[in-house]
Amino acid sequence: MISPPRMPQTAISDSRDSILVPRHRTPRPSTTTYDHVILGAGCAGLSLAWHLRSLGDRGSMALVDRRPGYANDRTWCYWDVEPTPFDDLATHAWTRWAVVDERGNWIESQSTRYRYRRLRSIDVYRRILDRLAGDDAIDPYLGASIRATTLEAETVAVDLAQETIRGVRAYTSARRPAALAEAARSGEAAMVQHFLGQTVRTEHSVFDPACPILMDFRVDQSDGPHFVYVLPLSDREALVENTYLFPDPVSASRHREEIASYLDRCFDVERYEVIEEEAGRIPMTTHRPNTAPGARIVPIGLAGGAARPSSGYAFVRIQRQCRRIAEQIAGNRSTRARLDAPIADRKYDFFDAVFLRALLDRPSRAPDLFARMFDGVDADPLVRFLSDRSTLTDDLRMVAALPKVPFLIAASRSTRAWLPRCLGIGSTNDEMDPS
Ligand SMILES: Cc1cc2nc3c(=O)[nH]c(=O)nc-3n(C[C@H](O)[C@H](O)[C@H](O)COP(=O)(O)OP(=O)(O)OC[C@H]3O[C@@H](n4cnc5c(N)ncnc54)[C@H](O)[C@@H]3O)c2cc1C
Repeated sequence: MISPPRMPQTAISDSRDSILVPRHRTPRPSTTTYDHVILGAGCAGLSLAWHLRSLGDRGSMALVDRRPGYANDRTWCYWDVEPTPFDDLATHAWTRWAVVDERGNWIESQSTRYRYRRLRSIDVYRRILDRLAGDDAIDPYLGASIRATTLEAETVAVDLAQETIRGVRAYTSARRPAALAEAARSGEAAMVQHFLGQTVRTEHSVFDPACPILMDFRVDQSDGPHFVYVLPLSDREALVENTYLFPDPVSASRHREEIASYLDRCFDVERYEVIEEEAGRIPMTTHRPNTAPGARIVPIGLAGGAARPSSGYAFVRIQRQCRRIAEQIAGNRSTRARLDAPIADRKYDFFDAVFLRALLDRPSRAPDLFARMFDGVDADPLVRFLSDRSTLTDDLRMVAALPKVPFLIAASRSTRAWLPRCLGIGSTNDEMDPS
């Protein structure tokens, strides 16, 4: 990736699929105080800019990110339980999917209502950047690392390498607060999902293009919960993602070797071409940054606790969170008002806290728990549950599918850590400082 000079820029130049780099424009005077300073212009930062503009906000805006440009760096999949502005960009959509347990039993689900959509991040970035390109009130600061963020009397000052910019409010996805350490202190369950995925092309037809495998547990479980995710793009092409749920990092080379071994063992594929690679690390915890009313640094995206704690899915939640924040701003709320943007009903935090606790108590249980969930609950209620849209009947189906004793024990332990926060008792980070 080429590093362009750091200066405010607009308009997008596009070199095919590879990298989108905004073109330069005249820098705004350094005395400018922006209405919005968006720290981290990835999924959440760009989505917030999109939702603000969609709701008629015309405030001046700085979009700050250390990345010099935009590449196709990730795949976003989600169930379409509610519309997002990017649904039509989906390259694939499935109504059928499978989970495979350790013994090789296939559990297939067929939805009658929901599709599991696949977006390429570059298509989302392009749509948003194209729309923002003609907007003179927006200054993208790309290739700009955030050094420090300081609360001043009426503004937030953001130190970049060569200058300081100011905003009435800042929204940050740029650095995750110490969510896992805070969760550990508060007694809430926390795990990390880390993965590396390769889009592979095989010589022969091996994948079923109609059926993604959401979790295949036919891999070594001795280090902790471990599965492979197979997203078939055709009968010869798939994103194959090696995923672990435990805190210790796994090297990229180990991930690649395990993908090779999995393809060999489970698909009889020895030779394949790697077309793309993506990797990630998602905190899985019900612990949320707790902003005070009127906080001028508002956490968004993963930093704002948008990932569903039990699954790591975040895309739809990020859209929901950014839309709600934009709605609150568009509603002319005072700058001292709380922008709390609840992402989902609190019941999901409780379910997830119990689920994570049950996994942490006995990690070897993971394949059985996920298999029971997909086996015991029909596709549509399961999708609603996983996407924060479940009815009481759906919730009861889920409870009925899972083992009672370990979950009761986990529930009693989780309640002690979770209840005080749910009732608003406990610590509050008055302002989250991402510096
Ligand atoms: C490979 C991958 C695949 C995923 N797949 C799915 C999926 O299929 N479905 C789903 O629902 N979720 C998925 N997720 C989870 C989640 O949707 C994504 O991580 C999403 O991009 C999170 O959005 P975000 O804005 O919080 O973080 P990001 O999109 O990562 O944006 C944060 C931005 O902050 C910038 N930044 C960080 N630190 C600094 C700094 N100091 N100075 C300046 N800039 C900084 C970064 O460059 C980045 O652009 C995936 C995540 C990854 C990594």
